[in-house]
Amino acid sequence: MRSLILAASRNTSVERIVATAPLSRNVVHRFVPGPSEHEAVDATRRLVGEGLAVSLDHLGEDTTDPEQAAAAAKAYLSILDRLASEGLTPEAEVSLKLSAVGQALPGDGEAIALEHAHLVCAAAERAGTAVTLDMEDHTTTDSTLRILGELRRDFPSTGAVLQSYLRRTEGDCRDLAAAGSRVRLCKGAYDEPESVAFRDRGQVDRSYVRCLNVLMAGAGRPMIATHDPRLIAIARDRVRAFGRSPESYEFQMLYGVRPDEQRRLLAEGHTVRVYTPYGSDWYGYFMRRLAERPANVAFFLRALAGRS
Ligand SMILES: Cc1cc2nc3c(=O)[nH]c(=O)nc-3n(C[C@H](O)[C@H](O)[C@H](O)COP(=O)(O)OP(=O)(O)OC[C@H]3O[C@@H](n4cnc5c(N)ncnc54)[C@H](O)[C@@H]3O)c2cc1C
Repeated sequence: MRSLILAASRNTSVERIVATAPLSRNVVHRFVPGPSEHEAVDATRRLVGEGLAVSLDHLGEDTTDPEQAAAAAKAYLSILDRLASEGLTPEAEVSLKLSAVGQALPGDGEAIALEHAHLVCAAAERAGTAVTLDMEDHTTTDSTLRILGELRRDFPSTGAVLQSYLRRTEGDCRDLAAAGSRVRLCKGAYDEPESVAFRDRGQVDRSYVRCLNVLMAGAGRPMIATHDPRLIAIARDRVRAFGRSPESYEFQMLYGVRPDEQRRLLAEGHTVRVYTPYGSDWYGYFMRRLAERPANVAFFLRALAGRS
């Protein structure tokens, strides 16, 4: 089921059907506060008002058009300006998919993505906040880490994302667990082959714990991105075991997923950041959320049938 949905997430015919179904938008609303910058800023204000931190993601990925890549970068510059003028930084930062700003363009895609990402990081710095580079499928990992290295020369607070389902990730955690290094650890959301990734959920979870131990023992800032109750309990235990101060790590969860748990962790004194996507290009993001939980598919189908 998961592989099927993830395959559909990159199929333009299925996208046309799902994106134009009349009730899709209502269901999507659970995971995406809205298509416009205005709605994203409103959601940020609400979350920050509750004491939560935010990472805003302008939806869009796998761009094959240079103009669209430039427009995506521009959208980030615009929202960073808004966040600063509304006093929502540093609580709100942004998450950036390099494939949205040109990484997938033929030829010099990596250089174009770096150029756009550099502009976004500079705007984030002016706004008093930072950028985290999302991690996409494994064919982009090396390129993304190279771009991260370049960006960190000028913007050391640029965050990385590592995915515990990749066999290489424990090593990447060792490389990135240095002072000042912000690293978001997640399980990974793409359909990856056995040759590079653990396919068994137990193995992915055990890898997550090994990676978490490396990051917690290191001098960087681990950003624990999971909704998994067992992993959250282990992370809370590691915070105590490694004597981590509250400002030296954070939990992260997705907008609309386990909101009660987000508030519970906040009330316990942890920093909790809510990854909040906005924009009209929600299809790929939404399909990955469906793939993560079969109950979401049932919820979606019920809505399409007009019963939710
Ligand atoms: C802040 C953040 C940023 C992320 N960035 C990236 C990234 O850059 N690259 C990447 O590949 N992946 C990213 N992900 C996605 C991540 O890799 C997982 O696919 C996703 O978080 C689900 O894994 P889980 O750790 O929550 O555990 P799971 O085992 O999938 O879920 C544990 C429990 O959490 C709840 N849950 C999980 N997902 C959902 C959902 N969609 N809807 C409802 N309930 C749910 C359910 O109760 C489930 O039983 C990110 C996740 C977060 C939280």
